Order: sequence, then C-alpha cells, then structure tokens
Amino acid sequence: MNNPFENALVQLDKAAKIMNLDKNIHETLKYPDRVLMVSVPVQMDNGETKVFSGFRSQYNNALGPYKGGIRYHQNVSLDEVKALSFWMMVKCATVNIPMGGGKGGIIVNSKELSESELERMSRVYIQKIWRNIGSQIDVPAPDMYTTPKIMGWMLNEFEKLLGHADPGAITGKAIADGGSAGRETATAQGGVYVVRELAKKLGLKPAETTVAVQGMGNVGGFMAKILRGDGYKIVAMSDSKGGVYSENLNLEALFKHKEETGSVQNLEGTQNVTNAELLELPVDILVPAAMENQITKDNVNKIKAKVIVEMANGPTTPEADEILKQNGVVVVPDVLANAGGVATSYFEWVQNVKNEKWTEVEVFAKLEPLMIKAFDEVWETKEKYSIDLRTAAFVKAIERVASKMKH
Ligand code: NAD
Repeated sequence: MNNPFENALVQLDKAAKIMNLDKNIHETLKYPDRVLMVSVPVQMDNGETKVFSGFRSQYNNALGPYKGGIRYHQNVSLDEVKALSFWMMVKCATVNIPMGGGKGGIIVNSKELSESELERMSRVYIQKIWRNIGSQIDVPAPDMYTTPKIMGWMLNEFEKLLGHADPGAITGKAIADGGSAGRETATAQGGVYVVRELAKKLGLKPAETTVAVQGMGNVGGFMAKILRGDGYKIVAMSDSKGGVYSENLNLEALFKHKEETGSVQNLEGTQNVTNAELLELPVDILVPAAMENQITKDNVNKIKAKVIVEMANGPTTPEADEILKQNGVVVVPDVLANAGGVATSYFEWVQNVKNEKWTEVEVFAKLEPLMIKAFDEVWETKEKYSIDLRTAAFVKAIERVASKMKH
C-alpha cells in the first residue's frame, strides 16, 4: 500500500494542474500548518505507566477552525493523520462548511484497555494538546474506535483546563453532553440526498434500480433503510461475516435475523455471498459502507455496478479508481457522499457556540439543501473540465480554500 500522504499529494497535484492553481498556494498546500506529536503516559490499572504516541495534524484553517476526528488504532501514523487531515480539508470545503481540515490519533489497540485506562488515556491526550484546540481553533470529533462517551471525557478535561465552558470545542458528543439531534443517521441521510440528485442526472428510476450495500453499521444500515423508503430495490447486504443476495430481499426479516443469529447469512430465500462476491454482483448501484481499500486493482474489472456511492472513507484504491473511470463507472467520491456526517458535526458546533438546540427536523431541513448544492457544484465542475466526480470535488474544494488563502 502506498503512503497515504503521498496519495493525497498526488491528488492535490492533479487538481492543481486542472484548475491552474497559483503556484505559491499549491506549494503551501503541500504541508500541514502544524502537527503536534505528543507522548501520552497512562497509569494502567496495575499501577505501571505505559506511554502511547499521539498526534494531531492541523492541515489548513483558511475556511474556519480545523475539524476532524481522533482515531484510536494500532496503524495510526504521522503520515496517516497528515493525509486524513488533508482529506478533511477537502471534505469540509466540498460541502462548503466554514471549517478547515484536522485529524488526530493515538497508536493503541483500545480493546486491550479497561474503561478507566481508556478514560485516563483520553484525558492525558487532551492535557497534551489543549492549548491548540478550542471551538475557534480546532474542533476534534470521533473516528475509528472513539465514541460519544470518549468525546464527553475529552470535553470535560478540556473545559477544566480552560477554566470555562466551550462545548463547541469537540463534536460528536452524546445528546446529553450537547450533541446534535440527527447525528446518528446524518451520514446515511446525506448520502441519500446525493443519490436522489444523481438519479435525476442519470435518469435512474428507484423501482427499477437495484442496490447492494456492504456494511450494516451506522452508515450502511440506515442508508439501506432510507433508500428502500425511496423505492430502491436493496438486493444485497453484508456485515463483517459475509452477506446475502436476493432479488426480493426483505430488510425487516434481514435485520431481525441478524439480531437473532448474530449474522445475516443463511436467511431463508436468500443466497449467501462473501464480502468479495457482494462487490461483484450484477446491481445498478454499489454502496461500500464498511471499510477502506475494498475495490482494488484485483477485483475492479469484475465490478458490474454502473454507479458506486462511496459511503465508507477510501473504499477505492487510486489504481482501481483509474480503471473504474476507463470502464465508465460513475463514482460518487467519499468527500461528497459521506459529508453529511461532518456537515452535521458543523451544525452541532453552531448550536453549541450559539447556545441553541435544534430538532432533528430542523437539522435535516438544513442538511438537505447543503448536500444538494454541494452535489450540483461538483457536477458542474465535472462538466466544466470534463473530469470525474472525485477530481471535480477536489478542484471545487481547493478553489474555495485557495481563494480564501489569497486574502
Ligand atoms: P460501524 O462500525 O457502525 O459499521 C461498520 C460495518 O461494517 C459493520 O456492519 C461491520 O460488520 C461491517 N464490516 C466490518 N468489517 C467488514 C468487512 N471486512 N467487510 C464487510 N463489512 C465489514 O461503522 P460506520 O460508522 O457505519 O462507518 C462505516 C464507514 O463509513 C467507515 O469507513 C467510516 O469511516 C465511514 N464514515 C462514517 C461516518 C459516520 O458518521 N459514522 C461518517 C463518514 C464516514
């Protein structure tokens, strides 16, 4: 696998060339504004101290405070957080929210920590970075293996050090801690708004359009249910153990079967498929909503879907992306398709800094036009330069960042 930050820079160069980006801005955008590297000493339950490595990359804040999650994972690295913070800059700018790009992480297998060790680690991480975060500086959020509860500990530690409340300093909190209504389904709902616009452009009729969804978590589960509500034919779904396929898939029965047996497989009237097979099914729309690097140069030529909606982050490798383009597959990139999540984190931030509380109806009434406008602008950019949707999203986003950097 390539270095993710090198991949990000290749994407930057590609967009810069198409849009004829000012060379000084291009050069500046090759580097994060600031990267914090901190040691995180944690007193373990046995009394011994274990030291973890933590990072926070603040890529660019031309459009607003840095924004992005904090990941707890063994594979976290300096280059990974730099790349992820670059992609957050692109994602926020693609949907035109006034936030910059940031990302953080700790190298840790959090499953090996007790809850009290996890809490102490989260608090020490904040003690190390607190002077460089805040609602007007840098706004962390959850990412892989971090949760609303962890965000609550982090905000509590931050406000203790700061000496006053600043609830907008961290988003993705539980509702009781100042989180936003609608956040749970926002990413899926945002993806559905995008699918609706795409269907208009491509002339897809829901009742005649089949969909396979990989992943049944927060994103894939809700996405399937909302699309089905729109009349789409969901014919395949999977979780980490595998999936099922049927022209007449009954979603209620599927979710019930998963709850009862712990798996979606062996549901009566369906055919078991592996996760690899699900990607290659003869469907109209494929929705990867589980993990990164699922569509690679090894399976890309077996993909039969005409449209791929990237709800997971980074499900398509750069080599596969190039081949999909040659094969005429329309790929809605992650920075657009799943941006309903960060847009709703921004809404949480707005509510916190203005001391307001919106209902779910109010949140979605703001999310829908935001996603539709972003889709239309990316589509126009694609037409203007005759490029794919991913490159168009990068061009549109970098245009916005660059125009603010000129001031
Ligand atoms: P989740 O943990 O709720 O669900 C993940 C799902 O993927 C589960 O159903 C799991 O069984 C399945 N899965 C795990 N390994 C798999 C494998 N090897 N093959 C197939 N399925 C597998 O996670 P989520 O919040 O739904 O996130 C899914 C993806 O969407 C991730 O890439 C995440 O980064 C991205 N994303 C999530 C949000 C959000 O708001 N939750 C926002 C933007 C992007």
